[in-house]
Amino acid sequence: MTTVLKFGGTSLATPDALERVARIVRGGRAPVVVVSAKAGTTNALIAASRTAATGDVVTAETAMTRLAASHDELLRKVARKDGDAAAALEELAQRTKALVRSVAILHECSPRSQDAIASYGELASAEVVAATLRAHGIDALAVPATGIVVTDDAFGNAAPVFEETYVRARAVLLPLVTRGRVPVVTGFIGATRDGVTTTLGRGASDYTAAILAAGLRADECLIYTDVSGVMSADPRIVAEARPLARLSYAEAAELSHFGAKVLHPRAVLPAIEAGIPVRILNTFAPDDAGTTITGQTASDGSIVKATTSLGGLGLLTVAGAEMSGIPGFAAKVFDTTAAEEVSVLMISQASSENSICIVVPADTAERLKAALERMLAKELAYHDVERVTVERPIAVVAAVGEGMRGTPGVAARVFGALGREGVNVIAIAQGSSERNISFCVGEADQVRAVRAIHQEFAREPATVRAG
Ligand code: ADP
Ligand code: ASP
Ligand code: MG
Repeated sequence: MTTVLKFGGTSLATPDALERVARIVRGGRAPVVVVSAKAGTTNALIAASRTAATGDVVTAETAMTRLAASHDELLRKVARKDGDAAAALEELAQRTKALVRSVAILHECSPRSQDAIASYGELASAEVVAATLRAHGIDALAVPATGIVVTDDAFGNAAPVFEETYVRARAVLLPLVTRGRVPVVTGFIGATRDGVTTTLGRGASDYTAAILAAGLRADECLIYTDVSGVMSADPRIVAEARPLARLSYAEAAELSHFGAKVLHPRAVLPAIEAGIPVRILNTFAPDDAGTTITGQTASDGSIVKATTSLGGLGLLTVAGAEMSGIPGFAAKVFDTTAAEEVSVLMISQASSENSICIVVPADTAERLKAALERMLAKELAYHDVERVTVERPIAVVAAVGEGMRGTPGVAARVFGALGREGVNVIAIAQGSSERNISFCVGEADQVRAVRAIHQEFAREPATVRAG
């Protein structure tokens, strides 16, 4: 039986962090390691590819040279004598620079080209991590996930083809593990059946880890990051936020959907299906208990376990007194949303049906508004629909916890706390699972809203205990 250990970007960015990674891997049982790009690399690669698309080859190549140098320097510090890794890094850098140059010549960066460029981050980091492990006497080798994770061709947000991926994961990785070797697999990236590199979406190295854990039927999937687990709120927003000892898969999915950056939204799914526990642990405090995510968790007496938020959103409202008389009206609205390929984060409709509110990424809101106005041209002309409006920037805040189900008065406490803080709530939605209450506020109120709710439920005696 194997254990999948995934290390995020901040766990890989310095020699000290890499030393810690080596110590953790040494203690692992038949480990398969999954790595992200080192912190900041993916952002820099995407920025470089966009700069290249403007034709500014000098700036883009300089950025690439800088990234390559930072990886070379890190490698020199952790594994000075590893000629193989140095050569691999050099080849990766040359290949990526050539890609950047072609983008600059074409003045165009297609999602396909961008994925090829972005893959440098994980590929380079796998080389550095494998070399670090070898320097610590561990028989490690870098394994590009392009030979394992098979995906569709939705570049930038590709979906894995699970069964094929599972077969390949076993075929490629198990023989290595059986021989006592430690594969260091790139997170985030995959390839189409034709072998074209894809990426699985931002933050998706967690997803890669869960996919491999499922494919290998691993005992555990350990996600090492820079905090001691999933916390009751984003620690950058709420200083008193505390790690949650246990979360159900459903709670984790709600939290990640609504902005808890600590976990990729889809990451939990493959593990749910395979019944493999996922633990979120801290590379810099590996003895902390962290958070264990399992299919079901026993109630710990808490009501709202965690409060999350997501900014940078827009609220579209379609309003009009006569909308209720139009059959299939909501379906038409959502068909348009789907045709525009806009992802919807939250929906709310009043029972009078006088308005439908949809929350979407802010940068897609005006485009969707125009499309809805085109689709509703007749209804607008006859005043069956009065208007389509956009409010932005807004944030969605969500209070999440299994304990909310069937507990009366939770909503009253949530909105009471907001009222006392003077936070204006623009729209509200509650999932029928009763596991979350989510609502929109102006982005300027996001932080105050999260703090108010966290404070309200933090007094609950059994909220959470680390450990
Ligand atoms: P990694 O690079 O290891 O994948 P991320 O930066 O993607 O790490 O995620 C970890 C970060 O998520 C933490 O440093 C923290 O700032 C942020 N975060 C946001 N919400 C939460 C939360 N509820 N619990 C823990 N961390 C959170
Ligand atoms: N490096 C990728 C990103 O920054 C994937 C990850 O870190 O999980 O989005
Ligand atoms: Mg992450």
